[in-house]
Amino acid sequence: MPVFAQPDFDHHEQVVFCNDPSAGLKAIIAIHNTNRGPALGGCRMYPYPIEREALTDVLRLSRGMSYKAAIANLPLGGGKSVIIGDPAGDKTPQLIRAMGVAVERLAGRYIVAEDSGTNVADLQLIAEKTRHVSGVTDKRDSDGSDRSGDPSPITARGVLTGIMAAVSYRLGMNSLEGVRVAVQGVGNVGGHLARYLAAAGAKLWLSDINTPAVRQLGRELDATVVESDQIYDQEVDVFSPCALGSIINDDTLTRLKVSIVAGAANNQLAETRHGQLLFQRGILYAPDYVVNAGGLIDVYHEWNGSDESEISRQVTRIGDTLTEIFKRSEIEQRATQTLADELARKRIYGTSG
Ligand code: NAD
Repeated sequence: MPVFAQPDFDHHEQVVFCNDPSAGLKAIIAIHNTNRGPALGGCRMYPYPIEREALTDVLRLSRGMSYKAAIANLPLGGGKSVIIGDPAGDKTPQLIRAMGVAVERLAGRYIVAEDSGTNVADLQLIAEKTRHVSGVTDKRDSDGSDRSGDPSPITARGVLTGIMAAVSYRLGMNSLEGVRVAVQGVGNVGGHLARYLAAAGAKLWLSDINTPAVRQLGRELDATVVESDQIYDQEVDVFSPCALGSIINDDTLTRLKVSIVAGAANNQLAETRHGQLLFQRGILYAPDYVVNAGGLIDVYHEWNGSDESEISRQVTRIGDTLTEIFKRSEIEQRATQTLADELARKRIYGTSG
């Protein structure tokens, strides 16, 4: 399997294949870049049917973390890890601790956090083997409730800030009162986001493949629940993807009747050209790794030991960064994603090329 030659390799500094047969661990840790600081990124556990898919996934995600950290102006590089296995059937404390040992061997070049398939309890096991871990400690949310190391509420707050910036810029409104928002996916982030949006007076359309969960939330928030595939067709102001990647593609793009796309999902554009197509159709796109940086900000500050006020300050800055990108996009007549990529590359490499 070629590694250096594959397009997703994209100048990775280090890729480590971790193997511990006694614990059943097969994992890959990818460190894309550490020019700005240690590489912080989540550990995903997924039953990849072929190893090549695990490699491609970790390389793409790790590069994305470099860009996310740079655009949020954090002193961090980008990294990510994947454990090949089914979190429902293959996960054991022994395996997770073995992952901690693998992280420890990198001596702080990579800091591990939560991702899909891993949770706070797993990170606590990892923390038995390494101190290069974040998303572990108990914290309080802004409403005073406990939220453990889970970064999702902060990610959702960042997305809310991003939606407000986009609504202000495109619709000229300083409040979300009456703004129509379609949220795709009401899991950890989308569920929090829907509640924040409802509290801000937005009108909601919700979809999720988890039918009981979305129906319950729909009742709670007086929102319209739609079938998963119909979320793209709603006549609303904002489409907020909070479930899957690649959902802006040739099929969905022509169906969207919205002014704004702003949501938490990673890698929303199926291909770079879809960012350009959104621009040409007059849809204001909040680049995913700009608007969903709240979780990274949260785990960085937990690791760094800074307080909640610093987290809030930086999450608020997500809106300012987006407004800058929106303005430049209008002036230069270029897609927001292209401008965000250039800004991130400039901060990582000192040049936007
Ligand atoms: P999650 O697994 O808790 O929620 C995802 C939800 O999407 C689930 O409820 C799932 O049932 C639903 N879903 C799956 N397929 C769907 C479909 N076709 N249509 C509608 N709903 C569907 O995940 P999460 O932590 O909320 O993360 C959501 C997205 O945000 C992911 O792309 C993740 O990578 C990204 N993200 C999350 C964080 C974070 O802090 N959790 C931070 C940055 C980015």
